[in-house]
Parts: sequence; structure tokens; C-alpha cells
Amino acid sequence: MRAKYIYRLDDITPNMNWEQFWKFINIFRENNIVPILGVVPDNQDHMLFVEESKLDFWSIIKDLQDKKIAEIAQHGYKHKLFHTKEKGLMGIDNTFLTEFAGLPYEDQLRMLEAGRNILRDNGIYTDVWMAPCHSFDSTTLRALKQLGFKAVSDGIALYPNTVWNLIFVPQQIWAPRYFPFGIFTICLHINNSNEKLFKEVEKHVKSGAAIISFSEAREYSISNIHVFVNKMFQICYFFRRKLKKTLKRMFNISKL
Ligand SMILES: [Zn+2]
Repeated sequence: MRAKYIYRLDDITPNMNWEQFWKFINIFRENNIVPILGVVPDNQDHMLFVEESKLDFWSIIKDLQDKKIAEIAQHGYKHKLFHTKEKGLMGIDNTFLTEFAGLPYEDQLRMLEAGRNILRDNGIYTDVWMAPCHSFDSTTLRALKQLGFKAVSDGIALYPNTVWNLIFVPQQIWAPRYFPFGIFTICLHINNSNEKLFKEVEKHVKSGAAIISFSEAREYSISNIHVFVNKMFQICYFFRRKLKKTLKRMFNISKL
């Protein structure tokens, strides 16, 4: 079977880089691709203040969802990140930054619900969640379930899997790559994107690669073979990462 790809755009806020945003939305639209947008309900992260706030932000996002040009996920709450000693369940980033991991259940529930209500007040309904910095813990998952979320865009695996009744659609790469099999989410941070990345995306979407929506991926039926392949992939991924870290430390190499 061929590999399938999902496009995910992170850090969607009223103050984002709008020119880049429309550039990507338009290339997806021209090629009948429906990306998933990670919308921050109440952005307070100064790193994401790139432009003056666009006042019709919510009507634009709602319009994209209504016209099925894009799907929407709730991306945290305020995206206000704090340093922690814990990396959360995923441990993907080395930044030790999180909005949720380590906080008590009541706090996480309150924050997630407040974010969800902002989306709802603006006519946007979604049961998909994605964590800022990929950082969350088992308490976050409990709170998400309590609030009726059903799917999460995250995880190191080759195929979607279900953890505590939440469907995890894996997110493994940050630029287009070509694989023989598996389901890959390509996460793009449009605020930091450049022409090189845009050209790579343009080439990928026009290459005939199988690009599906998040909704299609979460419906994917998983057999025992997929579960086994996911395990193998995780073992290889984390082994490779550990090896890279060790080599970097041993030889004092900044980039491997
Ligand atoms: Zn983010």
C-alpha cells in the first residue's frame, strides 16, 4: 500500500503571517487538499504575534471550515508556554516547554474548556486537539475525554492508534518526505516558513502523492499488523534519536 500524507498548519492566530497562510491555503485548495488548522483559541504567546491582529479572524476560520476548505483542531488554549522538568508523554521536543503537562487536572480541564468555548462562541466545533510543543500528559488526556474530544494529532507511529479511547493520528515530519507506506502528518509552522519549504510543498502536492484529510485518517481501520508496525517504528525512532544525542555529546557536534 502507498504512503498517505496529511497537511497540518500550526499556530493559527489573528496575528499570524497572513501572506504565508493564504499562500499555503491556496496551493492546497488548487490541488483539492484539505489541511487541518491548529487554531489557538486565545493566543497570549508573544512569539506568535507576527502581524497586526485581523479583526475578522474568526469569520475567516469559520468560513474555511464551513466550505470544507480546511478542518479545524483546537491548538491548546493561550499557547502561553512555561518551562518544566517534564517533557510530557511525547517527549518530542527538547525545549521542555509546555502549556499543560504537569498542571493539576482541574486547571487543565478549565483551560481546555475555556478554549473550546471560545471556538464554539465563534461557531467553530471540533473534537480534534493538538498540544502546543507536543507536550501533554495523561491528565490532559483525561480532561480531553471528559470534554468530549475524540481525536488528537500527535504521536510517533506509522498508523493511527487508539489510546484511552482517543484516536491518535501520528505526526512525524515537518516538511514533505516520500515514504513507501504509512500515514504521515506533515506539520508546517507558517510563521517561520520560507520559499524553499513552500516549493517543496508545491512539488509534493503536485507529485501525485496520496494526500488525505485528518478526517479520513482517523477513520482508518487498524489491524494487529498495524499495531505491530507502530511498535517497531517507535522503537526504531527513539533508538535513532538516542543514538544521535549520544553521538552529539561524544563528539560535540551541534547538528547531526
Ligand atoms: Zn503551537
